[in-house]
Amino acid sequence: MANSKLDNQNSEVVIRGKFNVTIKPVRGRIYVIRDRCKGCGFCVTFCPKGVLELSEDFNSKGYHYPILKEEPPDKICINCGFCSLICPEFAIFNEED
Ligand code: SF4
Ligand code: SF4
Repeated sequence: MANSKLDNQNSEVVIRGKFNVTIKPVRGRIYVIRDRCKGCGFCVTFCPKGVLELSEDFNSKGYHYPILKEEPPDKICINCGFCSLICPEFAIFNEED
């Protein structure tokens, strides 16, 4: 009978049974155009993994911009793209890591 476990060190799901399958979670990389950001916080609020927060630093317009605060293995960017979809200023982008 198949069973599965999450390998905490490598963030991999390993399913054992008739077949041995290793599924690596998709990881994302985030880019922020700081001076375009208006600090609205939409990306922070709606990120489904909760891996964004507003920096304590200011951009050139005086707004706090988002930074990544991952806590592996569970709290990682999954490259869903929702932050870039929801940003009204086109200030944040994602790509697969
Ligand atoms: S790509 Fe998805 S998981 Fe990654 S920071 Fe953006 S909203 Fe969050
Ligand atoms: S949604 Fe866009 S403008 Fe708003 S805080 Fe995030 S990056 Fe800045």
